[in-house]
Amino acid sequence: MSHPSPPSATRELRVEYGDVQAARRRLDGVVHRTPVMTSRTFDERVGAQVFFKCENLQRTGAFKIRGGYNAVHQLSPQQKERGVLTYSSGNHAQAIALAGRLLGVDATIVMPENAPEVKLNATRGYGAEVVTYDPEETVREDLGRKLADERGLTLIPPYDHPDVVAGQGTAGDELFEEVGDLDALLVCLGGGGLLSGCALAARHHAPDCTVIGVEPEAGDDGARSFRTSELQSVHNPDTVADGARTPYLGPEVTFPLVLEYVDDIVTVSDDALIRTMHFVWERMKQVIEPTGALAAAALNDGVVEGDGRRIGVIVSGGNVDLERAATLFEKIR
Ligand SMILES: *Cc1c(COP(=O)(O)O)cnc(C)c1O
Repeated sequence: MSHPSPPSATRELRVEYGDVQAARRRLDGVVHRTPVMTSRTFDERVGAQVFFKCENLQRTGAFKIRGGYNAVHQLSPQQKERGVLTYSSGNHAQAIALAGRLLGVDATIVMPENAPEVKLNATRGYGAEVVTYDPEETVREDLGRKLADERGLTLIPPYDHPDVVAGQGTAGDELFEEVGDLDALLVCLGGGGLLSGCALAARHHAPDCTVIGVEPEAGDDGARSFRTSELQSVHNPDTVADGARTPYLGPEVTFPLVLEYVDDIVTVSDDALIRTMHFVWERMKQVIEPTGALAAAALNDGVVEGDGRRIGVIVSGGNVDLERAATLFEKIR
């Protein structure tokens, strides 16, 4: 090993609302302040006044640039000089690639060799070095750690990191700033970076707001962990919500925050996800990906009742290619 590992074990892992505010300042002028949309048809259907925070319109097509940029920005000059690394086949890869380009930091992204060509190309397009591996033979975490050690790169994980969480929370912060008090906030849930960050914002702006995470039925590790207060896992869940195929909530940062600040975690079926995605495409003219439909689907499918309340919904991303969307829509015809 030619370089010492990053001092992750000694880092301050606590995240507070002040960290979300600090992230807002770092991200100002870098990420989009995404629009908040409403739909009278949706409101009538679910019996609530719903505010959709459209992170599908964020740079790179998902909220992940918020946390990625906030994390890379705060590295030491030496760490920036050496570069960053992450492993992801999804939206976090593009976020770290873009954050690296914007901050002049070399980014290395470990991706499976069978990842969709569009994703490999998009990531390379932001100037990142893509290292591919055979998913049958290699465990990505092992390869990622080995490369990071060999090259002295700092690993930026997709959710279980204080600066990533604080950055993701800025999406919720902007929503509350724009629409004021909310009775409930629904957030798409994978590893819990977005949910725990947005919960911090909710606790600050609207202490009585009910904060609910929504995950796919097949990947219900979060709901079970929440109920039992013990971290549960699901290996490679079979769901169309590919951004939420995370095995467990983050043991260091996100799970403790979820236990402290979140009121409930619910699940939705793939069928409900596709129907909701279809509604949002057709009626609201927004291109959203299956994972991005999680929070809205909880209302649309009646898992969470509207009850005439003011409800915020984070629409987390819009990265899905047209052929895949068409195939999904075929399933519900
Ligand atoms: C990553 C991702 C999620 C899940 O976010 P976590 O912070 O892992 O909970 C949800 N939706 C989209 C579109 C994502 O890319």
